[in-house]
Amino acid sequence: MSDYQIETKCVQSGYRPGNGEPRQIPIYQSTTFKYDTSEDMGRLFDLEASGYFYSRLQNPTCDYVAAKIADMEGGTAAMLTSSGQAASFFSVFNICEAGGHIVSSSTIYGGTYNLFAVTMKKMGIDVTFVDPGCTEDELNAAFRDNTKAVFGETIANPALRVLDIEKFAKAAHAHGVPLIIDNTFPTPVNCRPIEWGADIVTHSTTKYMDGHGAAVGGVIVDSGKFDWLAHADKFPGLCTPDESYHGITYAKKFGREGAYIYKATAQLMRDLGCTPSPNSAFLLNLGLESLHVRMKRHCENALDVALYLAASDKIGWVNYAGLPTDPQYALAKKYMPNGTCGVVSFGVKGGRKAAETFMKRLKLIAIETHVADARSCCLHPANSTHRQMNEEELIAAGVPSDLVRLSCGLENSADLIADIDKALKAV
Ligand SMILES: *Cc1c(COP(=O)(O)O)cnc(C)c1O
Repeated sequence: MSDYQIETKCVQSGYRPGNGEPRQIPIYQSTTFKYDTSEDMGRLFDLEASGYFYSRLQNPTCDYVAAKIADMEGGTAAMLTSSGQAASFFSVFNICEAGGHIVSSSTIYGGTYNLFAVTMKKMGIDVTFVDPGCTEDELNAAFRDNTKAVFGETIANPALRVLDIEKFAKAAHAHGVPLIIDNTFPTPVNCRPIEWGADIVTHSTTKYMDGHGAAVGGVIVDSGKFDWLAHADKFPGLCTPDESYHGITYAKKFGREGAYIYKATAQLMRDLGCTPSPNSAFLLNLGLESLHVRMKRHCENALDVALYLAASDKIGWVNYAGLPTDPQYALAKKYMPNGTCGVVSFGVKGGRKAAETFMKRLKLIAIETHVADARSCCLHPANSTHRQMNEEELIAAGVPSDLVRLSCGLENSADLIADIDKALKAV
């Protein structure tokens, strides 16, 4: 990990060219790599030498970008994945198999909720959802003997609930399991969960990190802090020989700093292959270079819009943790003193129907299944991303049916407010 400030890491970390080498990260658009002897290649397969042999497992362009994000989060190792969903799945499945159990915050991204509650359940992995505002006793009561991890989102998409990371880390560690945090919304510019006790950090890089709506992707970062061998009975996949990979015991061979990501690469990428393309990794890096500049503007625009909405008599409620009147303001200030994110949610008076009318009348702000883009966009989750949930589940997930999610882009906030104002007049 470098000692530079986050702004410098956004621009410079990960790739350090040598004399006469390209200044920008080269795109290694190659599926495979050439060797002089089979012995050379054998050493790579044995993980005795470092190098590349097939881009399903590793590719230099992707690794440069992963190394940058690891540095930005203050971790020791990272891997890119083809999507945020793949990152969420791998982050848990790397340490939790059939017969295992996880504890998760109930206010998480709809896709992750479905992954845990439906798809991973079919794979024999159980989940207990807890309200992020639960007491320590309630949280501790969710653990079982077979619990392998705790999962939460720094700022939940779309509920925008702020997670008390220290509370969740304390409970996870008291039960000998790691805390996995999806840090997509604040990005490491505004919050670095590892500094608050998180062990693994994931992102949908599709959002602010890319920031231009150009490439779907994900990343998993390991803090290198969790002591797998101290809980060897819980994590046999890391602490006993992997017969599918030359009998390597990851926690012994690669230590705390590398075991988790090595295993995820050697096993999960090998077998499941959710690999990003080098070209997408290159685009992601362009986004990372300006991330610190953009996050500041996203937050300024969102605050302007939230203040306007809070003062409007057409709006029932506004949820933006950066608003001083927001019940989560103190928690947000603790974990994200420089700003939260550019996403605001609110309820238009008149419920589901009024929300639909409002959205139809917007001209500048587009209706999209997306957030965290340079261009402002909005979504009615109850009608789209969360439509598989019933009213009860919607409320438990913090997404009531009147909720409109608005992602403030990088435009001039006066233009955004004028667009919203006009659309509200039609309601
Ligand atoms: C979008 C999103 C995901 C899923 O990421 P994809 O890149 O769309 O697969 C996961 N978590 C959060 C918080 C998200 O916003």
